[in-house]
Amino acid sequence: MIGRVLVGVWTRQCAALCLGLLTCITAQAASAVDCPGHPDALGTSRTLVVDPREHPRIGTMQYAETLPLADHEVVLTFDDGPLPRNSNQVLDILASQCVKATFFTIGRMAQAYPEGVRKLRDAGHSIGTHTQDHPLGMKRMPVERARQEIDEGIASVKAALGDDAALAPFFRIPGLSRADGVEDYLASQGIQIWSADFLADDWRHISSSRVYDFAMKRLEDKGRGILLLHDIQARTVAALPRILHELKARGYRIVHVVPATSERPATPTEPQQWQLHPPSETVAISHWPKIPAFVFAGADSLPVPSLSGSDWHDGGLALPEPFDRASRLAHGIPLPRQAPWPPLVSVGANALPVPAESIFDIQEKPRAAAQGGAPSSHHAEQTAPTVRETDGLAKLISADAADSRVISGSLPVVEPGLLPVPVEAR
Ligand SMILES: [Zn+2]
Repeated sequence: MIGRVLVGVWTRQCAALCLGLLTCITAQAASAVDCPGHPDALGTSRTLVVDPREHPRIGTMQYAETLPLADHEVVLTFDDGPLPRNSNQVLDILASQCVKATFFTIGRMAQAYPEGVRKLRDAGHSIGTHTQDHPLGMKRMPVERARQEIDEGIASVKAALGDDAALAPFFRIPGLSRADGVEDYLASQGIQIWSADFLADDWRHISSSRVYDFAMKRLEDKGRGILLLHDIQARTVAALPRILHELKARGYRIVHVVPATSERPATPTEPQQWQLHPPSETVAISHWPKIPAFVFAGADSLPVPSLSGSDWHDGGLALPEPFDRASRLAHGIPLPRQAPWPPLVSVGANALPVPAESIFDIQEKPRAAAQGGAPSSHHAEQTAPTVRETDGLAKLISADAADSRVISGSLPVVEPGLLPVPVEAR
């Protein structure tokens, strides 16, 4: 009898083990099968269908919720494109690994390079928007102006796609410069705001090696999440193959996120899956510092994203640590881990640096913006924008940055040597 029971237990354990192995093998096989010619590709492990109306704000840098990812699952996002020279390379790299990502495109860029937006769609990536002109500091902008930026950006990308259904109701605020009015408007439109879980600082004037280091270090710290990159940056193009290779080597899996539709219901999830570190029953919450209720009444998001390393500059904007710490605790948001690298700049014992105001600081100015480059004559007749036209965009953004005084907002940082060139040259 005992022997029979033991056999039964062993059989069940074996069945579970075999099922697990089978699932593992199937997943690996699917990855290889889905990526012909690239048997060692990273692949896309699964597609996650989300309902923006149920979860209107995601990304633990600023919000209590993030995507319901399992440990070692990563969602790649790329902002500010399309810019053919670099965006096309990013597409090629992703295709070589059969990786699907989400692109937050700028309306002006979509107008300039509509074919670039269609390439994103044709490659099967998700496409969200990132305003029309990439204004800096949306949080200081009148709501009506912010609405206009959002709406025009969506209209421009839709026009480039020629297919409204190809655009996901996903939006990322330039520079993560959140504001209640902006968030309320987007929520009313059923548009999901994507902050991020970690950055790789690829808009800054750093080497591609540093971009790789930031990406992997911060991912390792969190274990899963949304990575924010910029497909318009050459250093991102240079870092991406190594990042994807290392993700594969370290056992990370790529998740592709798409919006729910009437034909495609949202992936079933539990509320706690949308929190990066859901409260544990073993955590003595009652022992945490008591928070005055009036401070946070009605707030469902943090004033600033969590900081990272060298991402900030303006110590004068620092919030008292107790506020930031208490705010996070009050909203169930994990406290930022102290990253041992890169070294933090000291701002005083009782203050945390505020990253939001400077995480997308413009570190470099377009050479052509300073030089006032002229279009080459043989490009003048092209319908695609000439260097001068895109240069104008860079100037516009540079002027905006100079005007804003308080540093904020990212932009399609058109680096020296990275000026967009006419489409026919791509
Ligand atoms: Zn941006």
